[in-house]
Amino acid sequence: MIPSVLPTYNRAPLTFVKGEGTWLIEADGRRFLDLGAGIAVNALGHAHPTLVKALTDQAQALWHTSNLYHIPQQEALADRLVAETFADTAFFCNSGTEACELAVKMARKYFYEAGQPERVEIIAFNGAFHGRSSAGIAAAGSEKMTKGFGPMLPGFVHLDLGDSAALEAAITDKTAAIMVEPVQGEGGIRAVPDAELQQMRALCDAHGILLICDEVQCGVGRTGRLFAHEWAGISPDIMMVAKGIGGGFPLGAVLATEKAASGMTAGTHGSTYGGNPLGCAVGCAVLDVVADAAFLAEVSRKAGLLRQRLEGLVAEHPEVFEEVRGAGLMLGLKCKVANADVVTSGYAHELITVPAADNVIRLLPPLTISDDEIAEAVTRLDAIARDLTPA
Ligand SMILES: *Cc1c(COP(=O)(O)O)cnc(C)c1O
Repeated sequence: MIPSVLPTYNRAPLTFVKGEGTWLIEADGRRFLDLGAGIAVNALGHAHPTLVKALTDQAQALWHTSNLYHIPQQEALADRLVAETFADTAFFCNSGTEACELAVKMARKYFYEAGQPERVEIIAFNGAFHGRSSAGIAAAGSEKMTKGFGPMLPGFVHLDLGDSAALEAAITDKTAAIMVEPVQGEGGIRAVPDAELQQMRALCDAHGILLICDEVQCGVGRTGRLFAHEWAGISPDIMMVAKGIGGGFPLGAVLATEKAASGMTAGTHGSTYGGNPLGCAVGCAVLDVVADAAFLAEVSRKAGLLRQRLEGLVAEHPEVFEEVRGAGLMLGLKCKVANADVVTSGYAHELITVPAADNVIRLLPPLTISDDEIAEAVTRLDAIARDLTPA
């Protein structure tokens, strides 16, 4: 008999009932060190007092009104994001998938209004993940995500990362945009080199097309800058944001330049819940903590520490681990044993990691992880590697 919850997930036999900072407490009382952070969502860990206060204060006052009226918390969050980024404007939704929907619509609408309605194609990359909607799976394009779901939304072209000649050749008079995750998450924590992002920006400029960065996983301080593309010294025209921006409250956003957003006039897009007072009050509180030079410098320092320790771990366990990759506190350990075995062994050692493609485990701790917790995480990973070392 089908379970009452649609069985689209293979769930681990774990039930967490409470969270404290970098720790998750299981129903049986065990304390797990959380290097998954709900897949890069709990940017400030669990039950961060600033977020708890922002949410409960707003919950006492007003939950929801709809976008038929002004929402001061939404305007405050938009003002903050515009002040901190390349963007001139922001639209709020509830997830990364919805951010992808608008990014695609916005890019196409821009060219429609510009008198080039044939420009509908979006160049995306193999290994990408952009969400589970019809546009999201078409954008990612992998057979795993699209098979059996009927006709795909047309207008996506898929290339390998790292092939600049193919990218240049793929741009035609039908191209509207290039869509890229500066650090691929689900695809196995693959950071796109700065030079490659710079080349994408240059090609977009040369051809008058739009650059869309999907920073749903790598954004909001994860790499030690507020947004990952900043490391390359470039900016996109459109950016998708979700996950960390809500710190655990469902919140997504599309940020854009005035030019890229120019087709999105009244009535062209909307959301019932998007940008509601609860979500935006929490989003503002997340930015109060994360959009701070000292906080981001601390993320980079701790990321350096974790990375150095992980390099040592790989050197010590060459039969279990192959390499460390990624950026900031978005790190991947490519495994030689099955990555699923490393994740499962982690549960026995009360350590949470997240699998990704290419036999990688992802380490996406809360950005607030302490040095002691980093040391403890590496100790546990060492114990896992000992358990999994082939005899
Ligand atoms: C998680 C993710 C999405 C989809 O976000 P949802 O909130 O799950 O809809 C899109 N893009 C990237 C890069 C992601 O990591």
